[in-house]
Amino acid sequence: MAVELDPRLLEILACPSADHAPLRVGTPDNPDAQALTCTACGRQYPVVDGVPVLLVDEAVMPPDGGIDTSDGGSDVRAMDGATSEP
Ligand SMILES: [Zn+2]
Repeated sequence: MAVELDPRLLEILACPSADHAPLRVGTPDNPDAQALTCTACGRQYPVVDGVPVLLVDEAVMPPDGGIDTSDGGSDVRAMDGATSEP
């Protein structure tokens, strides 16, 4: 069963990591997973009883250390931060 979150809530939530990127429901492998996945770093945050646990310490890193943002991320407003400068 997929995570059911208020779309407005999902819009507010952001990755607690340095990227502060938007999150998407599920994981790349399983859209129905009880988790939220960061669109930037790929960390997966568990959702417990419908409550997202947005703690870096609780996050699961993706196996390959990151997700390819060119794949399926085109509909994400990744430019919000505009902090690509080092
Ligand atoms: Zn992140």
